[in-house]
Amino acid sequence: MFDEAHVRKTVAENLAGVRASIADACEHAGREVDEVELVAVTKYAELDWVRPLLELGVRSLGESRPQQLVERAEQLEGVDWHLVGHLQRNKVRRTLPATACIHSVDGMRLLQAIDRIAGEEGLRPRVLLEVNVSGEASKDGFSVESVRASWPDVLACDHVDVAGLMTMPTFTEDPAEQRLAFRSLRELRDELKALSDGRLPLTELSMGTSHDFAAAIAEGATMIRLGRTLFRGLRDG
Ligand SMILES: *Cc1c(COP(=O)(O)O)cnc(C)c1O
Repeated sequence: MFDEAHVRKTVAENLAGVRASIADACEHAGREVDEVELVAVTKYAELDWVRPLLELGVRSLGESRPQQLVERAEQLEGVDWHLVGHLQRNKVRRTLPATACIHSVDGMRLLQAIDRIAGEEGLRPRVLLEVNVSGEASKDGFSVESVRASWPDVLACDHVDVAGLMTMPTFTEDPAEQRLAFRSLRELRDELKALSDGRLPLTELSMGTSHDFAAAIAEGATMIRLGRTLFRGLRDG
């Protein structure tokens, strides 16, 4: 049974805890809290768990499946939708109008498809390039070498706003190791920015999930993507 008061209270407590941890991590890093955007990843969450988050002032929601993002965009108002999972080229046209930012552009063919369709539709989507900094075979994303090699082609895309980079690092509990992966992404961003002649500011670094967002903030994350920690205590409740 859906107990609205229980859900509201749990989500409010979880969010308060997350906001306090973000503030802490920012203070340690000498950064302002408003430099870090919280993207609440709602892929595991019921719609009834998401509404209280919106009432509590969260505006950016992330989904990993384009289909679910598009459906939920019709059901909830006032949301900036972020796509964080793989996008197939044949779903680009349907997904673009609903999406404020695509974090998961994982290859040149997808970027070029988005660029072409955005041109046809008169849109200018904001996108991030997903980079597999750990080099694991099981992960999506540009390899570090391929994003470097593709850079002239990235700069040639006229209908997309390539705002920065995203990564999904290997799971580890060790904060020092967590920071290494995030630092690699930041350094790669700095390198690509230097190759862009001011044409791409590359301001965004989308990195950090529920278990490693403090390390990501320490290394310069501007967007953190949190799911589980916001909905803790609800699955059986
Ligand atoms: C699910 C997901 C997240 C959120 O992970 P949590 O561990 O639930 O915080 C972040 N990024 C991506 C790409 C995801 O698929």
